[in-house]
Amino acid sequence: MARRTRQVGVVGRFGPRYGVRIRRRVQEIDEAQRASHVCPKCQAPSVRRRSSGVWQCRHCGHVFAGGAYRPVVTTSFKREAAEAQPAEEGRKSEDAKEAKSAKAEGA
Ligand SMILES: [Zn+2]
Repeated sequence: MARRTRQVGVVGRFGPRYGVRIRRRVQEIDEAQRASHVCPKCQAPSVRRRSSGVWQCRHCGHVFAGGAYRPVVTTSFKREAAEAQPAEEGRKSEDAKEAKSAKAEGA
């Protein structure tokens, strides 16, 4: 049976509105927040979003704080890694560690 619509996923509800790039960004976030994620406690793929930043495992009942749209936010880790990389090239690795720990204390 032929598909009636293109495979636009959850953002099909927007129709042609708002532009493709914005819809794609919404789709990425929206699908992540609705998907089941792996539980950090019992490893079951049963973690669902309860509300913004609150995640609950439907298998063991474990409730924990995470990102607003996904249980583990990777963007901040990526940014820290990208900032640490050029610093390590010029200096010793110990200096980079000190800078990182000082930064963590300040934040
Ligand atoms: Zn669990």
